[in-house]
Amino acid sequence: MFSAERLLFQPVIPAANAIPVIFAFPNEYSVGITSLGYQVVWATLASHPALNVSRLFTDQSEPLPAHPELFGFSVSWELDYVNILGLLERFEIPLRASDRQDSHPLIFGGGPVLTANPEPFADFFDIVLLGDGELLLPELITAYQAVRGASRIEKLRHLAQVPGIYVPSLYHVSYDVPDGAIAIIEPIDASIPTQVEKQTYRGNVLSASTVVTEHAAWENIFMVEVVRSCPEMCRFCLASYLTLPFRTASLEQSLIPAIEKGLTVTRRLGLLGASVTQHPEFETLLNYLDQPKYDDVRLSIASVRTNTVTEKLARTLVKHDTRSITIAVESGSDRLRRVINKKLTTAEVIEAAVQAKAGGLSAMKLYGMAGIPDETPEDMEATVQMMQDLKKAAPGLRLSLGCSTFVPKAHTPFQWFGVNPEAEKRLKYLQKHLRPIGVDFRPESYNWSVIQALISRGDRRLAPLLEKVRHYGDTLGSYRRAFKEMRGQLPPLEYYVHESWVLDQVLPWDHLRGPLPKTTLLKHRADALKQGQAIAV
Ligand code: SF4
Repeated sequence: MFSAERLLFQPVIPAANAIPVIFAFPNEYSVGITSLGYQVVWATLASHPALNVSRLFTDQSEPLPAHPELFGFSVSWELDYVNILGLLERFEIPLRASDRQDSHPLIFGGGPVLTANPEPFADFFDIVLLGDGELLLPELITAYQAVRGASRIEKLRHLAQVPGIYVPSLYHVSYDVPDGAIAIIEPIDASIPTQVEKQTYRGNVLSASTVVTEHAAWENIFMVEVVRSCPEMCRFCLASYLTLPFRTASLEQSLIPAIEKGLTVTRRLGLLGASVTQHPEFETLLNYLDQPKYDDVRLSIASVRTNTVTEKLARTLVKHDTRSITIAVESGSDRLRRVINKKLTTAEVIEAAVQAKAGGLSAMKLYGMAGIPDETPEDMEATVQMMQDLKKAAPGLRLSLGCSTFVPKAHTPFQWFGVNPEAEKRLKYLQKHLRPIGVDFRPESYNWSVIQALISRGDRRLAPLLEKVRHYGDTLGSYRRAFKEMRGQLPPLEYYVHESWVLDQVLPWDHLRGPLPKTTLLKHRADALKQGQAIAV
C-alpha cells in the first residue's frame, strides 16, 4: 500500500538521535489516508529532523520503533476509541494514563473529536492537543525536546504550560455525588493553568494533500482546504462554533500553487471546507478551474451554501464530471431555520434546485435533521411539503434527503439541550411520507445519534464504561448494559443524552476554552428561544 503513494512533500532524513514517534490513525489505511488532517500532521512530523516518525493504521504500518517516545492518534470519528484501546493493548501500553511508567511513550491525541470534548477519553491520553496543528505541533516538539530525558511527571508538567496542550491527569474533577453533576474542575496545583485555550491558526495558507494514492477511500483524490470554519453560525453546528473565526485560503499564495502541484500527480480534485462557496473569491477560483488544461479534472466540492448554487456553478460541476450537488437545509420550516440561525428560506432552496437543473445537474442531495430544539410536528409537515414543492419546481432532478437527529455538541449554543426522543418517530414520519413521492430518504440511525450524544456530552466517568462496552459490541444495547452494571458510579444514560442541562451547571469541558465565551453562547441560545415557540427559557 505505501509503495503506491505519491508524496507531495519531501520527508527529511531523521537526525541520529531523533525522537522515535508512532503516529496512528485508529482505523484502516484507506480511511486514515483519506483524512486531510492526518495527512498534514504526518507530513509535518515527517519533515522535522528531530523526529523519526512511523505511521500506524489498524490494518498495516510502516516499520515501527521498538521503544517509541511519543505515540499519537488523530481522532475523527467517536467510535474509533475502540481501535485506540485495541492498538494500545497490541503494544502492551496500559490503557489508563495513570498506570503508565517512565518507560512507556507519551500518548497524545488531536483531531475534531478530541478538540470538541476530550473528557470521555481523558483517562486514556497523556496529552490532548486542542486546536490547529499549524501552531501546536512545533510547540509540542520544542517543549518535548526540552524535557526529553526527564521523568514522566516532569514531562507532563512542562508540556501543560504550553498553550493548547491539555494534560487531563493534571486536572481533578469532583462530583456532588458519584452519580450526580460535576461540582468543580480544578488543576491539581497552582502551577498548572486553570484553563486550556484552544489554539487558532490565523494564516492564509491552509492545508492541502501531502499524499495521493489509489488506495484512499476517495481514490487518487488531491484535497485542498478552501476555507476553515463557517461564518454562518447555525446554533447546533460544531464545524462553525468550534473552529471560529472563519478563515479563507489565499488564492495566490495557497490555493492555486497547491492545485497546480497536486494536479501534476492526479486528475481528481476535492475542494474542502465547511462552507466552500463562501470563499470571497470562489467565483475567481471557478474561472481558474475553467481553463482548458483542467477540462479532464474531476471536481468534488464538499459543501455548498444553498443560496450560492448558480447555473454557472452547476455547469462547472457537470463539465468536471460531477452530476449531483449537496446542500444542507436542516428543515423545510422557515420558522425552525430562524431558531437555528440558518439564514435560508424554502424559496431559496427551491431556487437552488431550479439553478442546479438548469446547469445540467441530474441530482440534488439535501441534508436535514430531526429533533431540533423547538421542533414541532408541523415543522416535519413543512419538510414534506418542501420536498413536494421541489419536485414540482425542478421535475426530473433526482432528490434525496439524508436526515440525522439533532445531537448537542460542546462549545455550541445548543450544548445544553438534550436529544429529543421524539426524533425517532419523526424520522419514521418523514420516511412514510417521502418515499411514496419518489424522494430517496436516507435516515441516519437514531441509536447512533444517541451514542454520539453520550460521547459528545460525556465526562471522564465514562472511561471505565467505554472500556466495558468495547467487549460487548457497538450497539446502543451494549451501552445500556454497561450503564446498568455501573449504576451508582455515574449518572444514567438519559442524563448525558436526553436531559436538558441547567444553565449554571458545570460542564465537563468548562476548563477548556473554545473560541467563544459561555456568556456569548448563552446569548445566542437566548436569541434562538426568542424565535421559537415551544421551548422553555
Ligand atoms: S452553514 Fe453549515 S457549516 Fe455553516 S454553520 Fe450552518 S450548518 Fe454549520
